[in-house]
Amino acid sequence: MEDTADLRALIETIAAETGFSGDIRGNEPMAAHTTFTVGGPADCWVRPAGDCFPGFAAALLPAARTAGIPLFILGGGANLVVADAGIRGIVLDTSGWTGVEVADDGPGIFTVRSGTAVDDAAAAAAEQGLGGLAFLAGMPGAIGGAVWMNARCYDRQVSDVLLRTEVLDWSPLDGSFRRVWIPCRSEEFSYKRSPFQKRDAAGFSPLILAAEFGLEKREVSDIRREMAAHRRDREEKGHYRYPSAGSVFKNSRDFGKPTGQIIDELGLRGYTVGGAQVAPWHGNIIINTGNATAADIRKLMEEVAEKVRETTGFVLEPEIIFAGEWEGTA
Ligand SMILES: Cc1cc2nc3c(=O)[nH]c(=O)nc-3n(C[C@H](O)[C@H](O)[C@H](O)COP(=O)(O)OP(=O)(O)OC[C@H]3O[C@@H](n4cnc5c(N)ncnc54)[C@H](O)[C@@H]3O)c2cc1C
Repeated sequence: MEDTADLRALIETIAAETGFSGDIRGNEPMAAHTTFTVGGPADCWVRPAGDCFPGFAAALLPAARTAGIPLFILGGGANLVVADAGIRGIVLDTSGWTGVEVADDGPGIFTVRSGTAVDDAAAAAAEQGLGGLAFLAGMPGAIGGAVWMNARCYDRQVSDVLLRTEVLDWSPLDGSFRRVWIPCRSEEFSYKRSPFQKRDAAGFSPLILAAEFGLEKREVSDIRREMAAHRRDREEKGHYRYPSAGSVFKNSRDFGKPTGQIIDELGLRGYTVGGAQVAPWHGNIIINTGNATAADIRKLMEEVAEKVRETTGFVLEPEIIFAGEWEGTA
């Protein structure tokens, strides 16, 4: 375990130098910041509020990297299972870094700060008569996480509309973290993959600051109708009934059918470990029925994957991310 008081002192020094406003807390329960509502304490959790975010992050990241302190970047916490033992080191929460901008100099150029909730970004684009984010309406999480995951639904994925991503990335030239805009090259994105998932030798991946989208102009009422239909569909599919992180396993063309259907056909709906349960209405969603631990969720996933492997030979790949200290690893 990192020394929480030392981490706090480091963060508070950087905060004082960078005009920080926001929250800094030691031993912050991650259950409060994930849609599964599980996860033990982060040694130190920091959420910059508003415009101080990039300057603070540009000072924090190199300091943490140089000192060998692990740093986890938190979006909306909608695709995570954080270990019951929590997260060692620093959690940088992006949820205070929000806002959107419509460019004057190009039709449909829409820029979103990474902490903005996906649903808010889609709604703000719709108000401008820009339709290309409507497919994401109702999806939990923030824009940074959606770009990082190349989130997809309703046959579209984030990289279909992404033009450029602004990141804070480590430079081997001088050890600083620099703000750079990276053009979206479609060949670098694929199913639930983005180039931002790569880590450097110190275990750091780029911090996504903003995403620039190219969105088609449409009637506001049409966009609103499409968004309402997606939200309704998610409601009908039970997405919001219990705490979850959406689909737990990836789909694969090799299976010839959706992963949820494979799990359904094995009769595993309702299968339970502790407080974690395969949703009684959908094979590829695991829910927290009230008192699940992260260990329950992981064990349930492992048991489901094993039953699928034994019966069909298919190897399921988790879509959700296991974060934090699992079995002694940070
Ligand atoms: C009910 C429900 C339905 C869902 N439906 C879908 C769906 O239809 N399609 C789909 O793709 N997903 C779905 N999800 C999963 C989730 O909403 C998406 O994966 C979302 O994009 C995750 O974003 P987040 O901000 O919550 O990321 P987090 O869960 O906070 O983080 C995910 C990963 O992204 C990294 N990350 C986050 N922000 C940044 C940043 N600014 N810079 C660098 N790295 C960052 C984190 O370190 C982590 O590794 C669903 C989840 C729920 C709960």
